This record gives sequence, structure tokens and C-alpha cells, in this order.
Amino acid sequence: MKRLILLSLLCLSFLGHAQTDDAEQIKEIYETALTDDKAYDWLNHLSNQIGGRLSGSVQAQQAVDYTKAQLDSLGLDRVWLQPVMVPKWVRGTPEFAYFETSPGLSTNVPICALGGSVATPLGGLKANVIEVKGIEDLKKLGSEKIKGKIVFYNRPMDPTLIDTYSSYSGCVDQRYSGAEAAAKFGAVGVVVRSMNLRLDDLPHTGSMSYGETAVSDRIPAAAISTNGAELLSTTLKLNPETKFYFKQSCKQFDDVESFNVVGEIKGSEFPDEIMVVGGHLDSWDLGDGSHDDGAGCVQSMDVLRLLKRTGYKPKRTIRVVLFMNEENGLRGGNKYAEVALQKKEKHVFALESDAGGFTPRGFSFDCSAANLERVRGWKNLFEPYLIHLFVKGYSGADIGPLKEEGMVLAGLRPDSQRYFVHHHAENDTFEHVNKRELELGAASMASLVYLFDKYGVLPTKKIKG
Ligand SMILES: [Zn+2]
Repeated sequence: MKRLILLSLLCLSFLGHAQTDDAEQIKEIYETALTDDKAYDWLNHLSNQIGGRLSGSVQAQQAVDYTKAQLDSLGLDRVWLQPVMVPKWVRGTPEFAYFETSPGLSTNVPICALGGSVATPLGGLKANVIEVKGIEDLKKLGSEKIKGKIVFYNRPMDPTLIDTYSSYSGCVDQRYSGAEAAAKFGAVGVVVRSMNLRLDDLPHTGSMSYGETAVSDRIPAAAISTNGAELLSTTLKLNPETKFYFKQSCKQFDDVESFNVVGEIKGSEFPDEIMVVGGHLDSWDLGDGSHDDGAGCVQSMDVLRLLKRTGYKPKRTIRVVLFMNEENGLRGGNKYAEVALQKKEKHVFALESDAGGFTPRGFSFDCSAANLERVRGWKNLFEPYLIHLFVKGYSGADIGPLKEEGMVLAGLRPDSQRYFVHHHAENDTFEHVNKRELELGAASMASLVYLFDKYGVLPTKKIKG
């Protein structure tokens, strides 16, 4: 009995020691992020010297060159570019739109083409409008009421949901599939209310798909600002004969070669076990992509820098991946997973930051219950930094294709209340990212990577039979 008590005491003191060591290492990570900082400078360059980084653009290539050079300067074990073919869609001249209540009486409204949309005819497109609250309304109306018209999708994001991603998910089908659905009923164009919780004058772009629609049947699609949508909706109630005019000259070109930017620190004990941390280097073209996803890129780069700076020698290989083309194709994420499979690489963990550079709240995990339990055991280590959220959920688009049984996939979860004010709009710019908030995110990510590297990912139990 005495021996048992002694053993348990020993165990407890060992655990206590481990926790103190971890607390100290994590404290050092946070202090380094906040004092000996780099992420904000990197973001400043990406945003203000390069700007919006749409796939296939000169800016996207400049971002590849710049981040590769920065990773080279960190003294990692290896830095390389992974080629990937990406779509090249170009916005063209600024879009223009108005609605007309009677001939000559028109009101201009802010719009932008949706990513992947076709252009309007050269002289623009003018037609009557039919307002709907979603794709499901089209069937009820039928071709008779839709044919020859512009479909106006006007279901707003649900303001009652605290997780604003859920409100986004509840609406985004209008943007992504709205044109494909409306074309089937003979619509000539679509205008979609911007995915924005705030009423303002900025249209928000984003990807859309024509699905199986034949090239000749594709109709132009644009986003209208939330104020514009409210005004149009009110006007249509007063005068259902209101016409809408819009003009856009966007174009899809052939695919071009681009790159994922990759850097790694080789693991000292288990070099074959790879842990990925990443964000996406491409962005939309209206702003400079500071929140989406410049922030996630520089935070991911900073994870490796912070581990090195604090003198931590990882047991596993820690890899930063800056994925290309998340916004309009996910080609980078798919290519990375494809190459990993070809090379028979063993990925045990992947963490993505693609939810804005706001104050971190925690992480969501796509993993086994045992691994989630393990993370929750580390809760007290994160408490001093106000990191409280450890939930099961979505990780990230780029790391999704890597998913395999037994892996831990995770997503950084910053505060999401202001994200959709900036998302895909011209106000996604550097001045809206707070330096400390950005750094706290990087430190939180580095701490999670440190803990999973040190203690490993729990294997999934094989059921015999
Ligand atoms: Zn993003």
C-alpha cells in the first residue's frame, strides 16, 4: 500500500512538473510573439506592398516569392515551392449597376462580379427583377415568372447566430449555386445580397459555380451591397416593374502555373510524422486580403519561427504550408494532399488559420473523441491567454483533403463578430488587423502545435475482428 501511495505521489509530481514545463514553454511562446514580433511586418508587406492576391495574378506570384524568401531567412531545414495549376479569373473594368423605376429615373447601386462569373453583354444587361429568399423559391415561382428576368437573391445572414460562420453557411448557397439554379428557369442574370451582417455600401465577392451548365447557358452573377439590396427590395415592393441594369467585363482564362509555399523543421525523434500548419496565400482582389487570409499565412509562418526562437526542438516534422487558390478552386489544398499521398507521407496533425486575424478564442477539432479529450486536458495551460474554446467542428478548407483516419485536424477560432464585415470586400485591409490580436493567434497556434508535438496524437483504437 505504501509503495502504491509513493508511486502515485511520484506520478503526480511528474505530471505537475510536466505541466510547469509546458506552462513555461507556452509563456515563452506568447512573450516572444508579443515582443520579438515578425508576423505583423510580414502582413504589412503582403497587404501594402503586394495587395490582393487573386490566383494567377502577378500579385499572387509576388506573394509566393516574398513568403518563400522570408521562410528561407528563418533557417528552417527545408523550404520549397510545390507547383500547382490554378484557374485565372480576371475582374476587368469596375462593374456598374442601377435600378430604374421609370424610364430615365434610376438609382445607382454598388455591385461586384462574383468570382468565376461570365461578363454581361458589352452594353450591359437590363431586365425586370424577381426577388427571392433562396434557391428553393425558384421552383415555387416556376419558369413562367422567372424567364427573361434577373433573379435577386435576398436572404440575409441570420443575425441571431453567435457563430457568424453558421449564418454565412445558411446563406452562401445563394452566391455559390444561385446562377446555376436560376439559369434552369430561364433567368438572364442574378444579383445576390452580399454575405455581410452589417448594412453598408460594400459589395462582397466570393466564388460561384455554374455546375454542369453549358457554356452558352451561363448567366452573369453579381453581388449587391446590403444597403443596395434593402433599397432594391423596398423599391420592388412599391414598383414590381422596376428594371435592373448591370455591366461587368470579367473573364475566365486558361489555367496557369502557381505554387504552394512550404517550409519545414525536421523532427528529431519521429521525422516521418508530419504536422502541418497553414493558411491560404491567395485572396480576393477587392481588398488586400489581410484578414482572409494574409493573417493566417503570417501566423502559420510565425509558428515555426516561434518554436525556433524559443529553442524548442520538435520531435516531429513541423511544416508550414501556404496554400494557393483556396478562394476559387482549392487547387493548392488538393495538390498538397495528392502529393502527400503519392509520397506516402504520414500526416498526423494539421492546423489551419483561415477565419481572420481577430482575437483568438480557441480551436475547433475534427478528430477522435480521445484526442479531443487530450486537448481538453490542456485547457488550464491556455487559460492565462483567455483561450477557452475547444470544440468538435470544422478545421479548414485547405487541410480538409488531407483528412485521414486517426489524424487531428484543427482550425484556429478567432472572435467572428466582425469577420463578415470585411470578408471578400474592399475593406479587408491591413488597418483592420490589430497587431496584438494577430500575434496572440500565432502564439496560440504555436502552443497547440508544441503540445501535440510533445505528447503526440493518440492513435485510433483498431477494433479486432
Ligand atoms: Zn479564406
